[in-house]
Amino acid sequence: MPPTDDDVKPTTQDHWDEHVDLLVLGTGAGGLSAAVTGANEGLATLVLEKTEFLGGTTAYSAGTCWIPNNHFQRAAGVTDDAQVAGGYLDRLVGDKAPRELRESYLRNGSEAIDYLDGIGVKFWHSRTVVDYHPEVEGACLGGRALEPQTFDGRKLGRDNFSRVRPPVPEFALFGGTMMVRRAEVNQLLTLLKGSPKAAPTAVKLGARWAKDRLSYSRGTRLAMGNALVANLFHQLLQRDGRVWFNATATRLRTDGTGRVIGAVVAYQGGERTVRADRGVVLAGGGFSSGAEWRRRYLPSPTPQYTRANEGSTGDTLSLGQAVGGALSEPQDDNAFWFPSSIGRRKDGSTAVFPHIWDRSKPGIVAVNAAGRRFVDESVSYHRFVRAMYAENPITPAVPTWLIIDSRSLNRYGLGMIRPKLPKAYLRKYLRSGYLQSAPTVRELAVRIGIDDAGLERTVADNNRYAVTGVDEEFGKGSSPFGLQYGDPQHKPNASLGPIEAAPFYAMALLPTPLGTSLGLRTNGDAQVLDAAGAAIPGLYACGNDAASMSAAEYPGAGCQVGGALTFGYVAARHAARSARSTTSKTLTPVEIS
Ligand SMILES: Cc1cc2nc3c(=O)[nH]c(=O)nc-3n(C[C@H](O)[C@H](O)[C@H](O)COP(=O)(O)OP(=O)(O)OC[C@H]3O[C@@H](n4cnc5c(N)ncnc54)[C@H](O)[C@@H]3O)c2cc1C
Repeated sequence: MPPTDDDVKPTTQDHWDEHVDLLVLGTGAGGLSAAVTGANEGLATLVLEKTEFLGGTTAYSAGTCWIPNNHFQRAAGVTDDAQVAGGYLDRLVGDKAPRELRESYLRNGSEAIDYLDGIGVKFWHSRTVVDYHPEVEGACLGGRALEPQTFDGRKLGRDNFSRVRPPVPEFALFGGTMMVRRAEVNQLLTLLKGSPKAAPTAVKLGARWAKDRLSYSRGTRLAMGNALVANLFHQLLQRDGRVWFNATATRLRTDGTGRVIGAVVAYQGGERTVRADRGVVLAGGGFSSGAEWRRRYLPSPTPQYTRANEGSTGDTLSLGQAVGGALSEPQDDNAFWFPSSIGRRKDGSTAVFPHIWDRSKPGIVAVNAAGRRFVDESVSYHRFVRAMYAENPITPAVPTWLIIDSRSLNRYGLGMIRPKLPKAYLRKYLRSGYLQSAPTVRELAVRIGIDDAGLERTVADNNRYAVTGVDEEFGKGSSPFGLQYGDPQHKPNASLGPIEAAPFYAMALLPTPLGTSLGLRTNGDAQVLDAAGAAIPGLYACGNDAASMSAAEYPGAGCQVGGALTFGYVAARHAARSARSTTSKTLTPVEIS
């Protein structure tokens, strides 16, 4: 945006309440990566967090990072360079997002991880996680995904630990107070099957948790996204970085040249001005929780629920726009998706439960209002919801119904319902309407208001495929992606099983954004661009605040957290290299509202 007359009006007043090098808005993977990198590069860094908790949606996430050519791959001699991974992205994304962004991602992603590793933010290799489009050339059948190492929350001290956003209760044990890694969940589940092998792990985890509970509100052994944000927070504090909680930037300030030089912040009941000499980083997490943004940019029917954090309402995007930042070109859906079931917790709060793995299990089908399938149930959550939206105008598929029989429900669980759940507990879900049941498939269809003959036909077809091991309609159980979450013990196909044991059950799924892909346009240095494509000096965006490098395509597990870490790192490195702003002595800061 060109400077206005007001911008350059001379003034004697040049007051700032705080003066830092780098000001970061938001404490998710993007914001904390920028902040830690900035602080590590010697920049005086202040982070603002709008809510009372640190970590945003990242704290709820698995923390998986999609990083092609990571150090684990390199050590194993795997070639996953710009040609292989870049080719995959090119084929998947095409011209939906600027090539410059994915080139920067591939160039800087593994470098960012190495940098963070070097300062104590460590990862494990999730070497078996398959990319989300294994049918596209260049996809990786295992190797690009990283998992944050567990983190000991006690290192933060009690007060700072209490600031870390607690995990999604349904993704943790004992009412959300005990975090376990996914690998540990799988191990612990074998206890239910009568295998004692996991008993030592269970005892060790349980003992640590019980000890923690004497002094803390929850277990301090953090895993997944929680471990990532807590560790980044720790590293930031070690480098004298500061975080203000319940602090919302309400306006950005520019100097007479259009350079962003700070922000006005609502904090502790008043207004504070913060000067940032090297730059301001927008990392507010996009707009998954912004009702008006969702209505405007997400497909119809507009999703009403999200598992994203409540702070990501799009206001940081508006701040960027107000100083001339341009949004990326809207696409068909502008978001990344989970199909979620909506339940109620004991305390009356709403549980939005993402169905990530259960759709791949044998003995489960997903149907539209005609009682018919319309997709391979075992595709990625993102592709599944896209299929729901594609189907909906033809035959209503919002909600989509998962249909399962009592044997599979007992064996695998479904949504919030854990495997081997005693009948008395199951009744609770039936009473609340989270789960519907009937003695026959026909009656189940009538109960949930879908076509009964259609559902009967679907179940009969499914039962035939379960015998042959071949899904003749959608190929469920034929893709390496879906099969990784099937039941390897189940034959002849790990993802195809009969639906025949009464009673029969149904659960409704709705589209819910887990992150948004439409955001501020940036260049490969994470600088925010104006409508003409020029970088706005002093302004950066990363995470969901920046338009996704892959548009609304989802290449593989962890591309959002991976992207947020990468571009946060890129932004801070660029800011650290850039010239210190010197305009404050001569020009007034201009408030943009
Ligand atoms: C259950 C779940 C699991 C997921 N698992 C994964 C995964 O394993 N891998 C992956 O890649 N993606 C995953 N995702 C998606 C991913 O977590 C998010 O897209 C990503 O974490 C967003 O990071 P971010 O830094 O942009 O924002 P966030 O982590 O959402 O952080 C943004 C922060 O900014 C704050 N904020 C907003 N506005 C302001 C303001 N004006 N001033 C100050 N602060 C502000 C917010 O309160 C929030 O704390 C998952 C999502 C969910 C819901």
